[in-house]
Amino acid sequence: MRVLVTGGAGFIGSHLVDALMAQGYQVTVLDNLSVGTVANIAHHLGSERFRFINDSILNTTTLERLVRRADLIFHLAAVVGVKYVVEDPLNAIIVNVRGTENVLELAHKYWVRTVIASSSEVYGKSTVVPLREDGDRLLGPTTVPRWSYSDAKAIDEYFALAYARKGLPVTVVRYFNAYGPRLDPRGYGSVIARFFTQALRGEPLTVYEDGQQTRCFTYVADTVRGTILAGTVPEAAGEVFNIGSDREIAIADLARKILALTGSPSEIVYVPYTSAYGPDFEETRRRVPDVHRAREILGFEAEVPLEEGLRRTLEWFRSENL
Ligand code: UDP
Repeated sequence: MRVLVTGGAGFIGSHLVDALMAQGYQVTVLDNLSVGTVANIAHHLGSERFRFINDSILNTTTLERLVRRADLIFHLAAVVGVKYVVEDPLNAIIVNVRGTENVLELAHKYWVRTVIASSSEVYGKSTVVPLREDGDRLLGPTTVPRWSYSDAKAIDEYFALAYARKGLPVTVVRYFNAYGPRLDPRGYGSVIARFFTQALRGEPLTVYEDGQQTRCFTYVADTVRGTILAGTVPEAAGEVFNIGSDREIAIADLARKILALTGSPSEIVYVPYTSAYGPDFEETRRRVPDVHRAREILGFEAEVPLEEGLRRTLEWFRSENL
């Protein structure tokens, strides 16, 4: 079976590639290395079952050539992370909307089963926790750039569901704060990466606002397992799934955990959102997935406890000599 992974040199994408390679698939990665790195996939480059194409999902000539030959597509290529989106909203909107439109249009043409990576960010600042796949979205005004990411991913989902209505087997996965080895050490898109880097350098850990906002961090091996199930379980076609752990933790507690784990002498400083993201910023206060649908249809449940996942992640950050 030939699998195309867009964004396969990225953080989640490269772990997905590892799992697919281990399961014997033929894997092609399409990635323009905007945030992904060759180092993430270097260990597969010699394999006969592996190909890497350094190009963008916006290049429809390349994309068509690859989709035509695929039996299954995992579409993960995107501009991800609140920080990137806030810094360059136009690029994020174009890549995240047009890119997915391209992938789905071609998947429809060549009739290829496709998994679209979406995000828990689509729920916006909804306070109806746990967040159910069919629950309402709650977003701020268009003048707050953060929400353009939520809306771009929502448009991707609308496209996916519209193609599903035409019979194409498409599945949407909404990721909840994946973490693990290969996180970008600069911390783009991940507070865990930022805290580890800060702790290992002896710099202060920057907890935003009061640190009582929560997230459910999901170890990347779990994220990847859920993703593969979404692309292979027959009943998953046409469905949307939360893929995440439902263990909730406040960011201030996460910072303390990371200090304890690293044994770092760093202190914790509380920073207002405005100095981190500028004046037009709104935050999601609590983010917890409802995990029932993934459990019932995919048989998926996140398994790696936060402490264990953080230990494995720390090992990687240490080996990178930051
Ligand atoms: N956060 C923080 N300090 C940082 C970076 C992030 O306190 O240096 C908080 C951020 O406000 C959010 C949470 O950590 O509440 C998760 O942020 P991240 O960027 O990892 O992902 P998000 O869930 O916001 O997409």
